This record gives sequence, structure tokens and C-alpha cells, in this order.
Amino acid sequence: MIFSILLAVGLGAGTASGQSPEQAPVEASTAGISSPPAPMPASPVAAKARGLYFTGDTLKAAEAFEAAVKVSSGDWRTWADGAIAWAESGRPEKAVSWHRRAAILNERAESRAAVGWAMLRAAEPEGADAEFARALSLDPASAFALLGAGRAKLALGKPKEAIDLISRAAGGQPLSDYYLGLAYERLGNESAAAEAYKRAVGADSYFYEGRGTLARSYLRQRRYNDAWKHLVKLVEADPGSKLARAMLNKVRPLLTRSSDAPGTVAVEQAPAGPAYQTEPWGGRMPSLRVGVSSSPMGRPRARRSATIRGNGPWRALDPATGRVLLTAAAGESWTLRLIPAKKSKKKSRARLEFHSNDGQVAAVPGDAVLLKPDEPETSALTLVDDPEHTPRSFRGEVELALHGGRRTIRVVNVIGLEDYTHGVVSAEMPQRAPFEALKAQAVVARTHALYIKTVTKRHRKEGYDICDEQHCQVYGGMRAETERTRAVVTGTRGRVATYDGRPAHVIYSSHCGGRTQSGTDIGWGNVPYWKGVDDSAEPLAPLASPLDLRRFLSEWPKGFDRPSSFVYPAHARWTRAIPAKDLEEKLNRRFKLGKLRGLRVLRRVPSGHVDSLLITGSKRSKVLTDEMDIRSLLGVGSLRSTMFVLDTEYRKEYTAAAKGKKTALLVPETFVFRGGGWGHAVGLCQSGAMGRAEAGQTYETIVKAYFKGVELGDLGY
Ligand SMILES: [Zn+2]
Ligand SMILES: [Zn+2]
Repeated sequence: MIFSILLAVGLGAGTASGQSPEQAPVEASTAGISSPPAPMPASPVAAKARGLYFTGDTLKAAEAFEAAVKVSSGDWRTWADGAIAWAESGRPEKAVSWHRRAAILNERAESRAAVGWAMLRAAEPEGADAEFARALSLDPASAFALLGAGRAKLALGKPKEAIDLISRAAGGQPLSDYYLGLAYERLGNESAAAEAYKRAVGADSYFYEGRGTLARSYLRQRRYNDAWKHLVKLVEADPGSKLARAMLNKVRPLLTRSSDAPGTVAVEQAPAGPAYQTEPWGGRMPSLRVGVSSSPMGRPRARRSATIRGNGPWRALDPATGRVLLTAAAGESWTLRLIPAKKSKKKSRARLEFHSNDGQVAAVPGDAVLLKPDEPETSALTLVDDPEHTPRSFRGEVELALHGGRRTIRVVNVIGLEDYTHGVVSAEMPQRAPFEALKAQAVVARTHALYIKTVTKRHRKEGYDICDEQHCQVYGGMRAETERTRAVVTGTRGRVATYDGRPAHVIYSSHCGGRTQSGTDIGWGNVPYWKGVDDSAEPLAPLASPLDLRRFLSEWPKGFDRPSSFVYPAHARWTRAIPAKDLEEKLNRRFKLGKLRGLRVLRRVPSGHVDSLLITGSKRSKVLTDEMDIRSLLGVGSLRSTMFVLDTEYRKEYTAAAKGKKTALLVPETFVFRGGGWGHAVGLCQSGAMGRAEAGQTYETIVKAYFKGVELGDLGY
């Protein structure tokens, strides 16, 4: 559908042809993106304002646009660019008047719709409604205007008309489905509302706003098990959220037992043996200690027991003495339990017990136990009770130990670097991805693990080298092994990326949004091979104005990382609509800001990523400059990336002022983000790597394209 938006406005050429992902993640921009590319005005004052928009703060840019229109007021683009800068600086009314000036100079549906959107955000739905009607009289098919018109009807309490308009505007986009859900909810049609929210979440699993409304809709329909699934994800995304936790606790007793209800033990089945012999990892091949079932921050998750089964015989040893604690036959399950300290006894401490399948105590280990298969080349150990995953099998050895003040059992897989790489490759990239892309992934995964183990040592405190989550890199154990991944790993055996003859610090993320960031831009230091690159064969035009940036984020990337059968659209372009009250609650947990008054971008880097952002509160303000902070603090759950534009929707709050006169105050109601890419966008872009491989590049070329100056070396084992 986005293509209809773009084509309608003459921007679609080149993006629509050849690849049309089923779900269009791109929302209409709100800035009249559609107007035909006009020659950039010669005004140096306007050029200065545009420059400031990227390098300085949006308010300074807005003031510079003010100076620019005083010099020359006849160029609609200066007004439209300035309107964006005013809106983003927390001046919604000024944005309305500036968009209006732009629309008068450039009387087109998109310009009129931009006025409508600005009015909607300024809490003027009646005026917005009229502007959208004008826009639709100029172009009845303008999706940008249709979506806005629907949104205005929703604000005016006319859900039936809203549904009609939004349905005509677009399908399959998270934000429009979210609005549709709200409209159906208003109508009292809960099942249609839930369906719309479900589509929004289905198109983008990071659209947490849809998850919250979907869970509440399920609760009203008494579909408790369905609600549970989404509440669990919300708590997972924001563990500090009291509201989500309270809802979870309320729902728990209402659940009916079924295969997907919590607490159900996985079905017992004999684990399949490995299809391939393990890599012998004696000699010079490094081994790794991998933290298994880690939290998103890479720490061990709380766990009171661990049930292990082997497809071959194995034994449990005391790692300190080598003493055999128990021997297990193939297919047998054994459970290590954490026995908590007795509160009544002062000196009592938590300890471990090995239980057989029938609950008998079989062995009492010390604080740790090492499980070793008798035939390591051909057998594997399966962790049966993995709350986050289906049972997972591991090559190598498994260590279970008391952790976190003896309150939890830590699970560590001790494994050779090649087998480990095997378990990362297809967990990090679709198995059907082009072969050379998988090989590039194998090289960076192997190198990255080695670098974390030997240089950063970031998980030393947790007692392992690397975690199995995105925090380091996703490791799926043996689940990911196929003949194809096997060939990928053996085909790159021991190959690592090097710089100056040493393993390089090669990092990667899912989707760069179209261009990668440099290490200095993101504030991660001047690593010589972390330079921003355009993820395309042809260099991209630099982003030169607020309109440019919005257009860029309203279109599919045109380069190697464009949506394809390998690249998921929601990774390329995404939207979020975060209620201000939710964000206020979350931010106050950390900063005590008082009432949330607004968010303002202070600095962008040339790739378009936000580098510095101001949060204004009634008690104090706070500037965020850390990439992880910006992503993790600004959403319910995290934002996919820092490459975004931000629109604030306001509501009117009436305060009893002096002499009995009430004044309306504009306060933020919703923050709408439109973004590109997934991850930090420094180093290798996994989506772009797949596109490059499809275009015929070898894995060496791919690795070197993202890390300029890096060579491929061999560990020589
Ligand atoms: Zn980690
Ligand atoms: Zn990319």
C-alpha cells in the first residue's frame, strides 16, 4: 500500500518495482513529502538552517528558518522544512501556520494533508478534518490524506467514518492497523479490534503499543490465555513496568491449562542425536563458555531447576575434583534442583541436589557440576526445561552452578569455537539466506566471539565468555544445525577478520536503515574500520533537509538492504506510537523528571541517526547521548534503532487560571516515531549482506565492504 502512497506522489519509481513485500511497513510521512523535487533554493540562509537541522538542535534550526523566510518568503520548501523543525521543537501551533504557508505556495493534496496532520497534533481535530477534506478534494486517492482524515474522525468520536477512511488508506501497516483497532474498540466491536491489533503486532513484533491494547482487548473478551502471551512479552520488554506485572498477576489465576499455558512441562521425547560429528576442539582451537538462556542484558535468568537429557550416556562430575557424581544412560532425564536456605536455621545456605526422574535424590554436588557426554563426537546434551525456548541441545559440555547469591542456577555450555560458530550462524540469519552471506556471518560471528572472550571480557562477572542473546550474539545450540550451515562453517573454518594481524572488533546489526554509522558518530571511539558506508552500489544522496529525512524514512531503502524474500520489511522501516503517560512513568523510574513536557532531538549524524536527545520534564530535564539509552528508554520495550523522526501529538489540558478564566495548555499525549533499521548500524549490516550475496559478492568482499581496511586471516587449527 505504501507504494500507492509513494506512486501517487511521484516518489515511488525505483522502490516499487521488482520487490513488493507483502506488508508495507512505511507510514505516510507527515510533511508533504510528495511534492515534486524542486530545485534547492539558492538562499544561503535557508541552506544554513537545513545544515543546523542535522548538526545542531531542532529549535536552533527552526529559528534559522525564521530568518530564512524573512529574507525570502516565496519558497514553499523553506516553510515546510521550517514547519517540521518547529513541530519537532515543541511548537505545534507554529508548525500549523508554517505548513499553511507552504500549502498556499504549493496547493497540492499532500501539502494540505500536512496542514491537517499538524493540526491533529496540535489538538485541533475539527480544523484538521476540514484540511483533510480539502486535500481529498484535490486527490481522493491520497493515502497520506486518507489516513489523516481517518485519524481526525477518530479524534472527533466518529469511529465508523474513521474505519472507512483508514481502510481505504492502507493495509498491513502497524500504525494504521493500530488506529483501526482503536476505532473498532470505540464501536464496541472487540473481536475486530483484536484482529486489527494482531495484524499490527504481526507486521512488527516490536510494536508494543499494539501488544498492550491487544492484551486489554483479549481481557475484555475473557480470552485470558491469549492475553497472557502478550502480557508476558510486555513484561519481558520492560521488566520494571509495575502495570504490566500487575496485569500479569491478575490474569495468572484465570488461565486455563492448555499446551500453551504457563507451567506446562515440555513433552518428553527422546532427543535426536547430532547428524554430524562434532569438531574436535583440543589443540589450538579455542573453547568458549557460553551463558545459556540469558536475559536480554546477557545475565543468567532466574532458574530453580535444570533438567538434562542426553542422547548418549553422560556423567556428572565435580569440576573441582573430577569426582563422578552420577552416570546417566542415553535418554534418561535428571534434574538438578536448587534447595533454598531454611529460614529457621541461621547458618543454612541454598544448595544443589540431583534428582532422578521419579524424584529420588541421586547425588548432592557442591556449588557446581559439569556434565560430560561419554562420546563427545557424536552425542549431545539437551536442556529440557528452557522457559524461553523449546528444549535445546548442545554439543560439548554443560556446567550447572549456583549463581547470584545462591538464588539461581546458571547454565553454561562449554564448547569449541567452530561448533559455537555453527550454533550462531543460522540463529542470527535465516538458514535459507544466500550462501556467501551466511559465510560472512560465520566469519564475523567467530571473530566477534573471540574478541569478546579475549579482549572485552564483558561477561567475566557472570562467569562465562559470552551470552546467548542479542546482547552478544544469538546462539541456538544445535537447533540451527543443518547440512547447509555445516557447509558454511566448514567452508570458513578458522577464518577471522583481522586488522594489523589481530582479530578485529567486527560488530554487526540486523539492518542499518540504508547507511551505516561510523564509530565516532555513535560515540564508540575512532576504530579505523568502523566507518559509515552507504549500503548500496551507488552512493546515496546526502540527507540535506528535514523533508529529505522524512522522505528517506518514508521509502524503502534502495540499496542492498531493501526488503526482499530475506529482508523483513519491519526491519527496514518501522513506526511506533508511544503514549506519553507510559513514557513518563518509565522515564521517572530512572530520572525523576516530573511531568513529561516533551522530547527534542539535539543532534543527528550524517547517516540520519539521532545522537543526542533532550527530555524536558516539569522538575528537571535530561539529555540522552548513549545509543542504548535512547533506544531502550524512549519506548515501551526498545526502539529498533536511533534512526527516526519524532512527532508529538498533544492534547489540551484546561487549567483554572486567575479570574476564573480557563486556559488551555498543550501537553504531549502520544509520541509517534518513524524509523529505519534495526540495531546500532555500526559495522556489518546483516540485511545488506544478504542483498550483496544475492548480487553475487563473495563473503570476503562482503566483510571488507563493511569494515574498510580489514583483512581475512586464519586461526590455523
Ligand atoms: Zn552478552
Ligand atoms: Zn544496511
